[in-house]
Formats: sequence, structure tokens, C-alpha cells
Amino acid sequence: MNSPFGTKRFNSYSDYFKRTFGQRVQKITIDAGFTCPNRDGTLARGGCTYCNNDAFNPSYCNPEKTVTQQVSEGIEFHKVRYRRAGQYLVYFQPYSNTYASLDKLKKLYEEALAQEGVIGLVIGTRPDCVDDEKLDYLKELSNEYHIVVEYGVESIYDITLDRINRKHSFAQSREAIEKTAKRGIITGGHFIFGLPGESREMMMSSVKEVSQLPLHSIKFHQLQIVTGTHMAKDYQKHPEDYDLFSFEDYVDFIIRYTEQLNPEFIIERFAGEVPPRYLAGPGWGLIRNDQINIAIEKEMEKRNTWQGKFYTNGME
Ligand code: SF4
Repeated sequence: MNSPFGTKRFNSYSDYFKRTFGQRVQKITIDAGFTCPNRDGTLARGGCTYCNNDAFNPSYCNPEKTVTQQVSEGIEFHKVRYRRAGQYLVYFQPYSNTYASLDKLKKLYEEALAQEGVIGLVIGTRPDCVDDEKLDYLKELSNEYHIVVEYGVESIYDITLDRINRKHSFAQSREAIEKTAKRGIITGGHFIFGLPGESREMMMSSVKEVSQLPLHSIKFHQLQIVTGTHMAKDYQKHPEDYDLFSFEDYVDFIIRYTEQLNPEFIIERFAGEVPPRYLAGPGWGLIRNDQINIAIEKEMEKRNTWQGKFYTNGME
């Protein structure tokens, strides 16, 4: 048997972009000044235990600048590196980017879409920060633009979600994903492997449930403990609750997970890269995301395996 993904071993994001747009499309990350109900006191003040959104923003990304300014500086920044990109998706990334009134959302999104070369938006949010009105508006926008709503799901286990103080359940994630996908909006999900109290068996067996979600794309991250977070303190107190992945272990784990994953899902990320200076726990050193992908693909080739090779569509 051969991989159904041609020369690739998984349903890759870069191939999807080439198929869809026929050219390189660059994401421009911006910080539009949102907060999140888990930080502003609506649900809690402390936030998710691992959250440190401040650490990773690109330099042009600053909520004191307007959306227009951030987008145009982002385009300039990327032009220097990738001259070919002429089309852009604006990525509303930090915090919960649907957490405001519909009027405010319309103003911010439409300001981004008005910039030359911008063909759509990627909107990162929590599953409890959308409602029918907002989704109906995004559906309308997606008739004209490439609109992606990306939900932080993190785990399918409520016991884990409680432990990391997410303040929403997996049922809420599933409902938001279903409501979004039902409207024909491109829907993404984000998951973390290695959360406290979760065994490797729990993580591995979650693939069945995850594969049944109506997701279009998916991002995975290995847990990394970031300085200045509640989790960094918890890790010091209870290191025995954390089964963090070494690089080799993770490559093995994610390949076995991917073999069982719905082959229709586009894999946008296998792992994350936090600069070592931000880490309060063990890390993988200065390894870039493309190096991680290469290592995973090489090992998949060696094992002659691919995404969905053992996917059972819920049937045993
Ligand atoms: S929902 Fe997102 S922004 Fe809010 S506390 Fe959790 S990780 Fe941070």
C-alpha cells in the first residue's frame, strides 16, 4: 500500500493551500486587543494554567496599534522574507477573538478585510465565545472571504479541562464546532498532548472521539511549561503529575496517533516551538517547526505509514 497523500505522508496544510489558492498565502498575526472570559473575571481571573499569551507575539503585533497598522506592518515584515506572497490571511490570534459585541467584531474584522491583498481571516477563540448571531455573520462573510474559526479544545476529558482551569467542557467544544461547521464555515481545532493527569493511553484513545468531530483542520502541541504561568508553579509542586514528552517519544506518539486520525483532517501543526528562554520545564532545545515535520515524515516513511492508515470511522 502507498500513502494516499502522494509524496507526503499526511494531509498537509501547505498542499491544501496550494490546491485552494494556487500560490503561497501568508498569515499575518495581529493582536486586536481582545481579552478572554477566563481572565477578565467573567468566568475566572487566573486564566488557563498554561496561558502566557504575552510571550510569543511578533514585534509588529501590538494592541495599541490599529488593525490597519498591524496588518500593513505584518505584510511589510513578511515581504522581506517571502517575496512571492501576494495574498494574506489575517490571524486574530491572542486571547479570544470573538469575545466582544457583534458590532465591535464587525468593525475589527472588516477593517482587516479592507486591506489590499487580504483574502480572509483566521479567528482563534474559545468554544464558549460564539453564539448563533456571530456565527451567522461569519457565515455571511465566508461567502466572500476565506474565513476560518479555530477553537481551543485542548482535551476531550473534562477532568483535564478542570485541572487546567479551562472553564468549559468538551461538550461545549463539540457543540461550537458542530454549529460552526454546519454553517459551512471552515472549522479548526487545537489540542495539547501531555496535560497533567492525562495518561498516554487516554491521549491515544482520544483520537476516536476527535476524528468524529466535523473539523476541517487540526493543530497539535506537545505540552511545554512556560515561565510565569500557574502551571509552572504546579509543575514545581507536583512534577509527578506531568508526563512530558521527549522529542523521540513525541515523534513515536504523534505518528501512532496520526495513523488513527481521520484522513480528511488537514494537519496544520504537529507540535509547537517555545523558545528555550521561556521554558520552566524540559524542552527540545532550539528546534524549528519545519525540522519537527521533517523528522516526523522521515519516521513515517521508515514505518511505511500515513495519516488514517488505521482509521476506522468509529467502526471496529
Ligand atoms: S482561553 Fe486562551 S486566552 Fe483565555 S486564559 Fe485560556 S489560553 Fe489564555
